[in-house]
Formats: sequence, C-alpha cells, structure tokens
Amino acid sequence: MSAFASYDKLLDRLYSSLPEKKTTGERFEVPTAEPLIQGNQTIIKNFDAICSALRRKPEAVAKYLSKELASPGSIEGGRLVVQGRFGLKTISDKIQSYVDTRVICRECKKPDTHTDEIGRGVKILICEACGARTPIRA
Ligand SMILES: [Zn+2]
Repeated sequence: MSAFASYDKLLDRLYSSLPEKKTTGERFEVPTAEPLIQGNQTIIKNFDAICSALRRKPEAVAKYLSKELASPGSIEGGRLVVQGRFGLKTISDKIQSYVDTRVICRECKKPDTHTDEIGRGVKILICEACGARTPIRA
C-alpha cells in the first residue's frame, strides 16, 4: 500500500509540475527562406538556419528541395545553391511541404520528430512527443 501511495504522490508532483514546464515545439517557427537569385542560380542564404530549426540534416533537406524543384543543388558554406531561378513563394512552398510531410507529426501535430530508415528506401517519421510512427512517402 505504501508503495502505491508514494507512487501516487510522485505522479501528483509530476503532473502538477507540468504546466510550468515549457514544452518544446509549442512555438515552432521555421525562418522564412532568403532566396537570392544570382545569374541562373538561386542561393538560399539562410539554409543552415532553416535546417537547424527543422532539426534535419542540410543534406537531407537539400536532396528533397532539389528533387522537388527538379534542379540540382549543392550546399556551399551553409547556403544552398540551386540551379535555376526560384522565387520566395516557390522555395517557401517546398519548405512548407517538407515540414508537412517530414517534420510535423500527423497524430499530434508537433514538430518533435526524427526520421528513420526501416528498409530499403522506406522511411518513417517517428514522433518523440506521442510515439506515432508514420511512413513517409518518397
Ligand atoms: Zn506525435
């Protein structure tokens, strides 16, 4: 009995302390892309900042963007250089779709997630907040 009692007390303390705790992801903000068109290239100047806000490897985001934009891209000193001219709207839309499909949990809508590869080219999104595992369509 006493073990249960202390466990209850422990839970009480745990729950009562929850509201004070600042949960991560409540204010999930991705910096707005800063594309710079130079000749026939588009340079996303704050690519590094975007990737760290998304908590994703720049290589993974670069791969997605160049596939979506159907144009080769390369990372140069924290900036993404894509062949072709793309405006802010296009770039922002692609980043948003990356967020929607590869960052935000479908179940709880929180961004506290990471991805894992479970088989040949099969990726899943794992939520650290609710534990949901959602397949990612390539
Ligand atoms: Zn979740």
